[in-house]
Amino acid sequence: MAPPEKIELKKQAQQLIEQYDNFLFDCDGVIWLDEKLIPGVLETIEHLESQGKRFAFVTNNSSKSRDTYIEKFHRLGFKGIGKHLIYPTCYAAASYLKEHLKVPAGAKVWVLGDHGIETELKELGYIPVGGSDPRLDDEFHPQHDLLKVDPDVRAVVVGSTKAFNYMRIATTLQYLLHENKSLPFIGTNIDRSYPGPEGLILPAGGSVVNYMSYTSNRDFIDVGKPSKRLLETILEQRDFDKSKTLMIGDTMYTDIKFGNDGQLGGESGGSLLVLSGGTKLKDLHHLIENPASLQDGPSLIPLKYIESFGHIIHLLSN
Ligand code: PLP
Ligand code: CA
Repeated sequence: MAPPEKIELKKQAQQLIEQYDNFLFDCDGVIWLDEKLIPGVLETIEHLESQGKRFAFVTNNSSKSRDTYIEKFHRLGFKGIGKHLIYPTCYAAASYLKEHLKVPAGAKVWVLGDHGIETELKELGYIPVGGSDPRLDDEFHPQHDLLKVDPDVRAVVVGSTKAFNYMRIATTLQYLLHENKSLPFIGTNIDRSYPGPEGLILPAGGSVVNYMSYTSNRDFIDVGKPSKRLLETILEQRDFDKSKTLMIGDTMYTDIKFGNDGQLGGESGGSLLVLSGGTKLKDLHHLIENPASLQDGPSLIPLKYIESFGHIIHLLSN
């Protein structure tokens, strides 16, 4: 397998833009780091728009709804980003319940996760329970009402939460074990950590999901990147030709695998790693030198890499 190509010349940046019609962007580490826009990204995306290119944003962060993301994009200077362009995993979880599991509107869904999941479930007509219920902030005691399973709950969605505590874990476990573990268990994503503010590496949704998977001894349905189902949904809804689509991300086991397993870019490939987030050049070198040490080997290796997506506008203007 050829090593990934480093994009560092104007000609390479031009070729990249010519080669693809559609661009799928991961958010944290590609567009922004927490509340800070990554330099040059807005200008590069405006340039792509002026060339008639199309795009969508795909984030494994389940904590914010699409409406909250729209506000963030606008706050950071993006114009005209509509709901239809944003795919956070809280939305992916709610649509999976509707489109694939055919859970009818009006059903209750138990939530361990932040507000985004509750908001997106409500948008699709579901009744979220658990989640931000203030009684879950109580100290644990075994007679607590919420430890009795509500028989009307039809599924369990688990994602990132900053309110992780024993009551939430213990109540969620009751639902995961209920009736021989028969309620569907949806996990929003598998990310272990993400690059947070002040240079901190912070726990991400995948750590919460895997905690619940371990304690319940159950597998979960992963609706985030690198799920092929999520990719198919986006390609279909956006009407993107996958052979003309590029995935841009900073995490190899989610973003790059998403693009590679999904066969984006046709025979040439369609995954671009940026080094502006959680992955550094030494991590890429380590992967290339030891592919056998990783279960998924080649599917994690990007077709190309660049120091940041915003670097493209800099290369083009030289
Ligand atoms: N923030 C939180 C709380 C997360 O759980 C994650 C991913 O798990 C992220 C941010 C990163 O999301 P992405 O890099 O896909 O935009
Ligand atoms: Ca990311």
